[in-house]
Amino acid sequence: MHVKVVCVGGGPAGLYLAILLKRQNPSHDITVHERDPEGSTYGWGVTYWRGLLDRLQEHDPESARAVEEHSVRWNEGVAHVRDLAARHHGDEGFGIGRHRLLELLAGRARALGVRLEYRSDIGEPPAGADLVVAADGVHSALRTRRAEHFGTRTSSGRNHYIWLGTTKVFDAFTFAFTETAHGWIWAYGYGYGDGHSTCVVECSPETFTGLGLDRADRAEGLVLLEKLFAGVLDGHPLIARPGASWLTFRTLTNRTWHHGNLVLLGDAAHTTHYSIGAGTTLALEDAMCLAGALREHAALPDALAAYERRRQAELLSVQSAARYSAQWYENLPRYIHLPPHRMFALLGQRHSPLLPYVPPQLYYGLDRAAGRLEALRRLKRWLGPRAARALHARSTARRD
Ligand SMILES: Cc1cc2nc3c(=O)[nH]c(=O)nc-3n(C[C@H](O)[C@H](O)[C@H](O)COP(=O)(O)OP(=O)(O)OC[C@H]3O[C@@H](n4cnc5c(N)ncnc54)[C@H](O)[C@@H]3O)c2cc1C
Repeated sequence: MHVKVVCVGGGPAGLYLAILLKRQNPSHDITVHERDPEGSTYGWGVTYWRGLLDRLQEHDPESARAVEEHSVRWNEGVAHVRDLAARHHGDEGFGIGRHRLLELLAGRARALGVRLEYRSDIGEPPAGADLVVAADGVHSALRTRRAEHFGTRTSSGRNHYIWLGTTKVFDAFTFAFTETAHGWIWAYGYGYGDGHSTCVVECSPETFTGLGLDRADRAEGLVLLEKLFAGVLDGHPLIARPGASWLTFRTLTNRTWHHGNLVLLGDAAHTTHYSIGAGTTLALEDAMCLAGALREHAALPDALAAYERRRQAELLSVQSAARYSAQWYENLPRYIHLPPHRMFALLGQRHSPLLPYVPPQLYYGLDRAAGRLEALRRLKRWLGPRAARALHARSTARRD
């Protein structure tokens, strides 16, 4: 069946949905309206993990290949606390420039026959469309006008953050915690290609005003941050995009994600704190799920209801992880005085719902013991039941 779809917002969510729907049925009439000019975007690079590449590969191998080709990868993390550092070998992670990702998705959408209209600001659902997709980000105008219907709830984090870039290319996922007379301020950075890295800086409101960041103009603020993070920047500048400013993170949820033929996608539907680096992945997965639901259900209301049900359920654990991760940083004084390798280990556990309630040193000890136990279990599984029984018998005989 030929369907007319209007996507409002040319971010990852809107562009990827357009790609998937056009692949499903080339006769669909699909337009993406993006308020900004082509090639302009906010933010810097974003992180993602192997699982996303696998899912992209299943849904559209061509764009998956392009995304992987233009991403950088790392498998180490380093945490600098004052002048001490701890390095940790971990899972493979990826980074890609937001700019590059949008360019690749837009190119693919166009090649498939999607109409892309830039400098096209849409505040109301256009008439005549079978489906209108609000992929217009966290401040979605289409959602805000119907906030009561959607049951929109927002809460603001306590800490201040700014999303910056730098020409310093970090060779590992880098955390830098700096102590000032007004409290701690920290940055985390990762390379994403094109000779740049992302650098997100965060601090408590007390440190923010104490350091005068609330009063400093853009250039003064950057100079101050460059001094505070000189140890990891190696003389490279921090760069702010036009319009970039200090913010507090808004966590957004909606009770329902659709209204008639209007459906919410990506950040317009939900946000998760940036410290878990998941928003883009979730936006792309929303698109996969919505495209799948539209394929499986002939009636639009059924498809939209199935999409909402599935994604709301899948998001629960990520939303919980994001809340605990944001809290970990808000409670930084609880962890920052541990020896760096312990602090770093607990930084890796920041999604845990238990950690805020257990003394950090005790949690660290329990986690290590559980890790050793798990290693023993894995060894036993690997040896197989007979070898494990023999091992057990030998150790009991020795005790006797
Ligand atoms: C500091 C920070 C760091 C982050 N780091 C990561 C990370 O490492 N990994 C990760 O996965 N995610 C990260 N994210 C989250 C990620 O950026 C978002 O979750 C993702 O961009 C959501 O995609 P989207 O397409 O839903 O929305 P957006 O990318 O926001 O796109 C929405 C688009 O809609 C357009 N638009 C808005 N209003 C209109 C209108 N009226 N008419 C037409 N167009 C309109 C906008 O111009 C925009 O292009 C981070 C976010 C922040 C704040």
